[in-house]
Amino acid sequence: MSGLGRKWAIAGIGLVILVGILVFRTTALAPIDLSQNEGTSVDLIEVDANQTANHLAEAVRFKTISTQDRTLFDPTVFSAFQDWLAVTYPNFYAAVSTEAVAGSSQMNTWAGTDPSLDPVVFLAHQDVVPADEAPGSGWDKPPFAGLIEDGFVWGRGAIDDKASLIAILEAADRLAASGYQPKRTLIFAFGHDEEVGGTGALAVASLLKERNIHPWAVIDEGGAITTNMPDVAGPVARIGVAEKGYLTLILTSKAEGGHSSTPPVTTSLGALARAIAAVEAHPFEQKLDGVLIKMLRATARSEEVGFGTRLAMANLWLFGRTVEDAMKGSKSGRAMLGTTIAPTILHAGIKENALPREAQAFVNFRLHARDSVADVVAHVIAAIDNPDIEVTIANPPGNEPSPVSQIGTGPYAWLEQAINDGFPGTLVAPNVVLGGTDSRYFALVTDDIYRFAPYTFDSSDFGRIHGLNERMGVEDFAHGVQVYYMMLERAGQIEN
Ligand SMILES: [Zn+2]
Repeated sequence: MSGLGRKWAIAGIGLVILVGILVFRTTALAPIDLSQNEGTSVDLIEVDANQTANHLAEAVRFKTISTQDRTLFDPTVFSAFQDWLAVTYPNFYAAVSTEAVAGSSQMNTWAGTDPSLDPVVFLAHQDVVPADEAPGSGWDKPPFAGLIEDGFVWGRGAIDDKASLIAILEAADRLAASGYQPKRTLIFAFGHDEEVGGTGALAVASLLKERNIHPWAVIDEGGAITTNMPDVAGPVARIGVAEKGYLTLILTSKAEGGHSSTPPVTTSLGALARAIAAVEAHPFEQKLDGVLIKMLRATARSEEVGFGTRLAMANLWLFGRTVEDAMKGSKSGRAMLGTTIAPTILHAGIKENALPREAQAFVNFRLHARDSVADVVAHVIAAIDNPDIEVTIANPPGNEPSPVSQIGTGPYAWLEQAINDGFPGTLVAPNVVLGGTDSRYFALVTDDIYRFAPYTFDSSDFGRIHGLNERMGVEDFAHGVQVYYMMLERAGQIEN
């Protein structure tokens, strides 16, 4: 064999080995035949869908609204709502001890028979974001009328988050009525101001810390089963194992004021505009991390994913950059890969012929787990590189990114089993929640926080949350009650 021939032969053998490795690794992500799951479905309790829907509709009628202006908060609506809960769920309230926390938040403890077992905490918030009730606002049904039509409960809070709150209570009330006694303590915490920062949840988490209580797991909103998503059209249960941090920085630029006919070379507005542009020109690192890799590998096991995609997901050591580049093409992809930068407010000037002495910009950041608040502040100051631009943290001061909960083991595996039993034929994948939930404060007392509610949403439903025509399917809601019942019953029996 000539020298050249030998080189070709070696290259050829190398290529065969490489392809072999790639394909071998891909078999580890073989598509899951989800139809095999169908047989494992467990017995769920009987639920009267009309009755549970009526209760959700009644809950929607209480205007437990959180507004940015805290002085508008109306505690009497919350106490009326809680009175209604007490009347509607008497077996639950007889089984638990109830404490008012931070005013209108509520913590309910259903004491287990074995106090050595750490409790499981279920969270849901009572408050909702405002909704425009004026005719012509775009709502097909009045947002606080609590109507049931076309197979849906309509109104603000029908999903976020009275769907969780009411279904948990429906389930827990039935469980208590059955004479059930948990071994492991179950705690139910219902915040009153999740939509405006969650001081109630923070107070509950602080109380647990003070009492040296470290939950086995915390379960909150923030994840669900999705359909028709860009990655997989079929149902995928997305368990939020982490949530991004939150920070708003104020950039302030000061300069001489005066008449606009004789401006200085550098004005406050010009300097501020350059500062904002500099921040945008220095994006944060964007790359795949542990949670994202596990999510991609989990969804790659869908039967609808083609061999090429599966090959790439199984071999991210080789194709990681290609996958990152593809994700960077979408807004949500970029939000998953790293810390985001969003200038949101500008304040400067009152007259077209007068130079403002001060100009301010608000820039909102959602922090990826690899960046802390201090990292972001340092990054922004370095990017602006101008000591005349003052950088301060807005009030409230924001949150660090949450810790990442266990994936595949511990409470995650427990929840995955509940999803498999409650929703046979559904893929389960970990996810990072891009918004914020009350559960973030429970990082004070546990690393195991899971954001998942047992409901199925089509990608077109997401706009309804905080948007127009929020609604919950009557049958979906009843099924959620059944699954919560199973979860609560099992949670009280977890041994280790
Ligand atoms: Zn919510």
